[in-house]
Amino acid sequence: MSALGNYHSLEPFRDLFKTGIPILAYHKVDRRPSGVRLKGLYVSPKRFTTQMDELHDAGFFSVGLHELAYGGDGRNLVAISFDDGCRNVLRNAVEPLRRNGFRAIQFIVADLIGGLNEWDIRDGEVPEPLMTESEIREWLAAGHEIGSHSLRHLRLTRLSVRDAREEISTSKKKLEDMFGIPINHFCYPYGDWNEGIRNLVTEAGYVTASTLNHGVNTAATDPYSIHRIMVRHPTRSLKALKERFFS
Ligand SMILES: [Zn+2]
Repeated sequence: MSALGNYHSLEPFRDLFKTGIPILAYHKVDRRPSGVRLKGLYVSPKRFTTQMDELHDAGFFSVGLHELAYGGDGRNLVAISFDDGCRNVLRNAVEPLRRNGFRAIQFIVADLIGGLNEWDIRDGEVPEPLMTESEIREWLAAGHEIGSHSLRHLRLTRLSVRDAREEISTSKKKLEDMFGIPINHFCYPYGDWNEGIRNLVTEAGYVTASTLNHGVNTAATDPYSIHRIMVRHPTRSLKALKERFFS
């Protein structure tokens, strides 16, 4: 556990990043629309480009989450992840990733492909389009990966075992059937998980599961509670973010 907060630029994180593999957790890469509640989840395309260029210039290489499961000494390695499958990531992140030779993973909400961020809208958030099936194919064709972010983006620890299992295992099968590739990586919606949920994820046959627990990853990290480092636009609504993710 590190006292460092959310990621904006490499400098404060250099020492931490030498101790294990960091996974950056992004959500939206776009200019922020007006009326947004969780402002910090929007990273501007300009800032994203700067962050990717900076990692590249510092000699970082990107790795996939399957490589974390096998450990590694973590030096100059980074994984890049995006939660929710927003269309703006396809539009604004692919070019800066390509230019720096980085590969990334998007966690897809399987029942909302081509739809909107319904789980956010219920909380009063502005609508954000999610990638369609063909847009996800574009993302894959650009050399990137996808993982499952459940069926509907619910808080899994609040569901019955039966419903949680459905969210975890049916989303895997649905994505595999749709795209014809193995789906090996799960990401807990809201970073909400416990031992019971973790067991359902292993039972479903995933190789890793990502949390929003802060920190880097080493060979000793449990592959079903992988640490990530939130990237966010500087904002004063830290309290809102904490309530959302850690309550
Ligand atoms: Zn999410």
